[in-house]
Amino acid sequence: MQINLERLQQNLHDLNEIGYNPDDRGFYRIGFSDADMQGRHWLMERARSLDLDTYMDGAGNVFFGIGARDKPMILMGSHIDTVPAGGYFDGSLGAMAALEVIETMREHQPELDTPIWGVATAEEEGRFGGMLGAQAMSGKLTPDWLQEAHDADGVYLKDAMAAQGLDVMKALEAAIPTERLKAFVELHIEQGPVLFQKDLQIGVVEGISGVFKWIVHLKGKADHAGTAPMDMRSDAFMGLADFAHEIERIIAENGTDKSRITVGKVELKPGHPHTVPGEAIFTIVGRDMDNDIMTDLANACRRALSAIARKHRLMFEYEQVSWLAPKPCSSRLVDLIEQQTKQRGYSYLRMPSGAGHDTQFMSEVTDAGLIFIPSINGVSHAPDEWSHWHDVEAGTNILLDTVAAIAGDSDPNAWLHTRGKENGDKNSQ
Ligand SMILES: [Zn+2]
Repeated sequence: MQINLERLQQNLHDLNEIGYNPDDRGFYRIGFSDADMQGRHWLMERARSLDLDTYMDGAGNVFFGIGARDKPMILMGSHIDTVPAGGYFDGSLGAMAALEVIETMREHQPELDTPIWGVATAEEEGRFGGMLGAQAMSGKLTPDWLQEAHDADGVYLKDAMAAQGLDVMKALEAAIPTERLKAFVELHIEQGPVLFQKDLQIGVVEGISGVFKWIVHLKGKADHAGTAPMDMRSDAFMGLADFAHEIERIIAENGTDKSRITVGKVELKPGHPHTVPGEAIFTIVGRDMDNDIMTDLANACRRALSAIARKHRLMFEYEQVSWLAPKPCSSRLVDLIEQQTKQRGYSYLRMPSGAGHDTQFMSEVTDAGLIFIPSINGVSHAPDEWSHWHDVEAGTNILLDTVAAIAGDSDPNAWLHTRGKENGDKNSQ
């Protein structure tokens, strides 16, 4: 089986007519905006014209698919909302690839037994916190949160949804019971440079990195930049600068090739060219695929900052703003995707995702897997985001093969022939 690239291109093109701004060449389908909803209704229309079943759930997720309703479904998809001035493929690719896979499978197996559905998820990009549709499907939403959630302009989620004819509390009814799901598979652009730089076609995603965020205060003494001798200062910036140099060592000694530590926001006080900075306030964001390694990295950051504070006569305080544990993808699905990629002869890498995706919530209710294709120069969340069509085709074919392998298995559990399972079987014999 091969997907039909031209048909996929046409669907992507038609969706991306909606919310396009020719001035900056970006896409503006912000969650629950008019353009976002227009995209959702366009998709339902397209699904109907193809004789697919389609509906929108209480969270604004649009479903489209085929097959018996009384059996667990294979669900594919991604979001079709965008960041402001977003790119052509971010999210849209996964939703349109799902449509293409359903079409291809229906052409080849008209008697398809397993229900195969696609979903265009709602508000993934974070206007109201992000991944709303996936959180709804995985039963993560609470009434309190739904009532309180608002965007950066103070617009409440409930009002934004009401303006589109949706009742916010109905999002609670969008939860899909585990027994209704057989698997969830998402195709997405990498949004980073790794596959492109390494000239690889497919990323087999092992999981979504965990992430912690600290706000650090280094407090010294603001002094006159002319009268305070260099050896009598408590210069908070010097402490920050020393820490920046420690990051490489901290990762080398405590981390992995999947570790990341970033100082992304810095403020110096009083912030005057002729004054020794008395206070440095900065963020540390750490990431890894292993929660224990994240803990080691965090401890190493704390030890380094304590030592640096002593050296520069500073006070060191930090606040841990958030700690999100890593979310591994289903290992049997990771192995299955890898196996399909090998069979096609595509070059690939097993890798973590540094960015969050709908898959991370779906992994809590079913076997969830994520396939990446390269982003040219790693560009994302910008109009310059692009991916080669041959990579789009390769990624959609892997989505097709993966879904077909799950669907084609008469034994509902047989697609879990992972290395681990096989080893387990051998051991038990
Ligand atoms: Zn995305």
